[in-house]
Amino acid sequence: MIEKLPVVLSQDRAGRPEHEHLEKEILAGLEGRHDLKVTVLPHLYDLSQDGPGVQFLRSVEDDMVILTWLYPRSAFWVLDANGIHGSLGPTFSLTEEIDAAAAVGKRTMWCLDLRNESRAEPYLKEIDRIASLLVEPAAVASRAANGKPQFVEEAAEPRWYPVVDYSRCGGCLECLDFCHFGVFAAGEGGRPVVEHPDACRPGCPACSRICPQGAIMFPHHGDPAIAGDPELSLKNLKLDLSRLSQAADPRRIAESERKRAQEQGWDPTGSS
Ligand code: SF4
Ligand code: SF4
Repeated sequence: MIEKLPVVLSQDRAGRPEHEHLEKEILAGLEGRHDLKVTVLPHLYDLSQDGPGVQFLRSVEDDMVILTWLYPRSAFWVLDANGIHGSLGPTFSLTEEIDAAAAVGKRTMWCLDLRNESRAEPYLKEIDRIASLLVEPAAVASRAANGKPQFVEEAAEPRWYPVVDYSRCGGCLECLDFCHFGVFAAGEGGRPVVEHPDACRPGCPACSRICPQGAIMFPHHGDPAIAGDPELSLKNLKLDLSRLSQAADPRRIAESERKRAQEQGWDPTGSS
C-alpha cells in the first residue's frame, strides 16, 4: 500500500479547446484529494529524454496513473524507452494486462487514453478504483490534501520517432537493416534500440510496416494499426518489399508515406 497515488496528466500537444476542457475538468475533479499527488506534464511523446518531464517521471517509484492522448500501449513503451519501467495495468482503456516481460518492474503503470471518453467522470471513477486498490485507507483524511496540481514546465516541440514494443519484438533486426537514417542500433541481447530518434523522417512510418511482429509504433500516425492499437497492429501492416526494392530510395518512401497520409486527411508532420 502507498500513502498517495501519483497521477500524471500529459497534455495534448495541439491545444484543441475540447481537449483542454477535458483536461481542466479532470484536474478540477482531482483537486482536494488526500489520497492523490497530481502532476501535469507536456505531451509524453514530445518530452526530451533528459528534460524535466522525463526526470520527474523517473523520480516516481510507486505505481502511477498516467493519462495521455495516446494508446495505452504506446504510452507504456514511450515510458519504457525513457527508462521508466513497470507493468501495464488493466483499465477501461486496455482491458487485458500486457505481459511486458522485457520491461517488467516492481510497480504497475495504469495508462488511460484520454481519447476514450469526452467527459471527466469515467476517468475520475477509474482513478478512484485504482486508488482504492493501492492507497492505505487508514488516516487518509489526516494527510495534506492535494491542492493545485504541480506543473512541470518544458518547452516540448512535436517529435516523430519509432517506439518499440519489446513484448512483441523478436530481435530479427529487420528494422535496423531497413532504416537508412541510422535511427536504430543493436542493443543488449540483440534487440534494436532507438538510438537517434530525431533522425527519423517526419511523417514516415515505413519500418512499422515492415516489422513482422507489429512491434513498431508511431503514436501520432493517423492509422490506428501504426499508432498503437494492440489488435490492428497485428494485421495489414506489411509493405510489399518487392515494390519497395524497385524504388528503394528511403526519401521516396518517406515522401510517398506523407502523400498517403495527406490523402487521408491526416497531418503528415505529426504535429496534431
Ligand atoms: S523488425 Fe520488429 S521484430 Fe524485428 S527487431 Fe525490429 S522491432 Fe523487433
Ligand atoms: S520510419 Fe523510416 S526513417 Fe524512421 S526509423 Fe523507420 S525506417 Fe527509419
